[in-house]
Amino acid sequence: MQIFWLKLISYLSSWVTWVAVLWGSVVGSFLNVCILRIPAGTFLKHTRSVCPACLSPIPFYLNIPIFSWFMLRGRARCCGAPLSWQYPAVEALTGCLFAVIYWRFPFLIQRGDAWQIEYGNLLRSLHAAIFCSLLVVCAVIDLRLMIIPDVISLPMLALTPAVVFFHPDLNWLSALLGVVIGGGSLYAIAWIYWLIRREVGMGMGDVKLLAAIGGWLGYQSILPTVFYGSLTGALTGIGIMLVSRKLTLRSAIPFGPFLALGAIIHLIIGPYLQELLLSPSGL
Ligand SMILES: [Zn+2]
Repeated sequence: MQIFWLKLISYLSSWVTWVAVLWGSVVGSFLNVCILRIPAGTFLKHTRSVCPACLSPIPFYLNIPIFSWFMLRGRARCCGAPLSWQYPAVEALTGCLFAVIYWRFPFLIQRGDAWQIEYGNLLRSLHAAIFCSLLVVCAVIDLRLMIIPDVISLPMLALTPAVVFFHPDLNWLSALLGVVIGGGSLYAIAWIYWLIRREVGMGMGDVKLLAAIGGWLGYQSILPTVFYGSLTGALTGIGIMLVSRKLTLRSAIPFGPFLALGAIIHLIIGPYLQELLLSPSGL
């Protein structure tokens, strides 16, 4: 336990961690733009940052991730419109994600005074950063609008061969089986649900998302992703029911964000969790 805390302190005091947080929050700021503009179909309309309410351009000094929102106390300088807390939340989340991705796949190794790059982990970090960024966009859009945009899940699926080509651990068979099992299993569940209840319980968006996750992480990721996703989803559902004191939810919560969360949990702390769950005596 003491070793854990020492490791955590040395990790938090490393400048690389904070560069990852900073870089992640800048990427998060871009993800906010995607979250806002992809469903609205205005992605290529404005090349500069504009106020979401009155569309006037935002100067760069009011566009600093996380800080600007607090500096402006959640209101736009131009027109006074309230700015959603989604902006700093997504920026902070992406910052934290990038930091834990670097913790999982560190690619800068210090030898004496020299820094060396570990290329395998550099590729794993890049893959994880792109993967998590895409999932954050899908998850927040799904939370807001109950849809998972095809313009993210389908290109993700289409990019699977490129991921297999560059990723040091992923192979063709594993990715192909991932797409088939990921998409197929949810599709089968949706179909059985429809046969029994004659209503749509799960959207095709979830099917395409899990197929893409299977392609990017391999078929071995499907079961853990669905397991962590269902567990966090069920706990969240119970939490909401307790707070709102309603006994039924009836598709009030989208499943997409929990699939995304499950995949990210598996990707970053999966090996540790598996060790913990499979050998409790080893604690
Ligand atoms: Zn404005």
